[in-house]
Amino acid sequence: MIIVMKRNAEKSLADRVIDKIESLDLKPVPLFGTERTVIAVIGDTRKIQKESMSALPGVDKVMSVVTPFKLTSRDTQKEDSVIKVNGTRIGGGTFTLMAGPCAVEGEDMLLETARKVKSGGASLLRGGAYKPRTSPYSFQGHGEKGLAILQNAKNETGLPVITELMEIADLKHVEQYADIIQIGTRNMHNFRLLKAVGMSKKPVMLKRGMSATFKEFLMSAEYIMKEGNQNVILCERGIRTFSDYSRNTLDLSIVPMLKKVSHLPVIVDPSHGTGKTELVLPMAKAAIAAGADGIMIEVHPNPADAVSDGDQSLNFEQFDNFMEEIKPYVQLAGLKMQ
Ligand code: PEP
Ligand code: MN
Repeated sequence: MIIVMKRNAEKSLADRVIDKIESLDLKPVPLFGTERTVIAVIGDTRKIQKESMSALPGVDKVMSVVTPFKLTSRDTQKEDSVIKVNGTRIGGGTFTLMAGPCAVEGEDMLLETARKVKSGGASLLRGGAYKPRTSPYSFQGHGEKGLAILQNAKNETGLPVITELMEIADLKHVEQYADIIQIGTRNMHNFRLLKAVGMSKKPVMLKRGMSATFKEFLMSAEYIMKEGNQNVILCERGIRTFSDYSRNTLDLSIVPMLKKVSHLPVIVDPSHGTGKTELVLPMAKAAIAAGADGIMIEVHPNPADAVSDGDQSLNFEQFDNFMEEIKPYVQLAGLKMQ
């Protein structure tokens, strides 16, 4: 069930509704939208008397939710969610570019890349300090030291950072440094981790599991939002199919589907989605045309020497060209470059 507050109803009125829900031993999850507040009710909603709830001051409507996507659905919130990160806006008509190396390999390469992507127009710096690698013998990331390096790059360039969290034990640390916490494809089904970031105050970017269906993807976002964190960004990063000319198959048709069903912003990652540098630009263009709110790409000063994902990273020259080439697509999609 959802309780839709009147447009511009004062927060104190929403608080009263929240108290009422809690007094019935139910869990309220408020979504503070730009236009109005919606309060989702989790639990046995038969305890709620619709008439008496509707009569509370500031309440516009009390509705039953038929969709399985209670908090992510556009039935619950009509307007696009806009996630605000240090003055940067994600969603709601703004184009967001997240760029940086696959892994934080060291201080110099990160700073150099951060300066480059900042001057090119990126709005967030990406870089993994904790790396989920196929082989336990491969570089696993610099951990806390990597987070500190990200912090230095942020201090110098002013770019907010997005970085991956792999386990609950590291949440306190990652939360301290990250402006957006990334949940990687391998952890999309890690429900305890999803619940943990659901309790965090930091926005979360949830990458689609490499074999996750549409429903599973949105349900994982529900896990995060149910705990009270409404700042969730979805990221399509390719799925496993029989197609073998690329690392993954970038499922771009999920973008308009997600945008139709959900109010959450959608980012596309053509780097992991294809695994090939030459495919990053064309698929970024296609993603923007399909309605994505932004793109995440890997950029490295010298991809041939990258410790991970060099084959899908852009060098600085390719990054400059990328920025030039996507501009008309961003414009045509009606998005604002920030
Ligand atoms: C990443 O973005 O660093 C990453 C590991 O991506 P994914 O989880 O999509 O493989
Ligand atoms: Mn990578």
